[in-house]
Amino acid sequence: MKQNLSDKKALLIEELHREGIHDENILKVLLDIPREDFIPKALRSQAYKNAALPISSGQTISQPYIVAYMTQALEITKQHKILEVGTGSGYQAVVLAKLCRRLFTIERHLPLLNAAEKIFKKMGIFNITTLFGNGMKGWPEQAPFDRIMVTAATEEIPEKLLEQLKDGGIMVIPVGAQGETQHILRIRRQGNDYHKEILLPVKFVPLLSGIVHES
Ligand code: SAH
Repeated sequence: MKQNLSDKKALLIEELHREGIHDENILKVLLDIPREDFIPKALRSQAYKNAALPISSGQTISQPYIVAYMTQALEITKQHKILEVGTGSGYQAVVLAKLCRRLFTIERHLPLLNAAEKIFKKMGIFNITTLFGNGMKGWPEQAPFDRIMVTAATEEIPEKLLEQLKDGGIMVIPVGAQGETQHILRIRRQGNDYHKEILLPVKFVPLLSGIVHES
């Protein structure tokens, strides 16, 4: 039997719950957001597969489980001011924006950022502020942040991001080389101490410096 997108979506949310996403607020937000609007039209029918999918500029929209997992690992409240590095399709940004006070998001591919901004507007989401630039530098004018999420993998955690995390704040970031096993790290800042936990093996596109104007 052919299932429509909303049936597939409900099944995906159940699957995420079974896999350990127990935060009802996160599940509700995932149920609210049309993931099909963030991916190429040709892939629409796959929007609610629990899989990463290609977007433009050779990048990917993360797997729904990873989006939910990283979001849950951040322990977000409505009061938080959050920085995301790697806007990509804008999907993760919208998930975060619906759970926090203000979201700042940085992307190094201009066409991706322009497309994401259009969706934020269309969805009527006004607590997201975007920046075209190299997110490894963070966003000093807006720092410090209660939470930081990096959605591209790096071998070395950028020093500037650690500096821009608030005391008591949490950062999640995939760490590891391309082609090798990467892991999501959760870093909790306490003064000048950064406590690191290794959470989950993952595969992310690389965190790169420099900016790209064309796709
Ligand atoms: N959060 C995105 C995932 C996109 S993949 C989503 O929900 O779709 C990671 C993104 O990080 C890519 O778009 C890539 O261009 C971007 N990226 C990589 N290095 C970056 C950097 N230094 N600064 C900003 N964005 C970066």
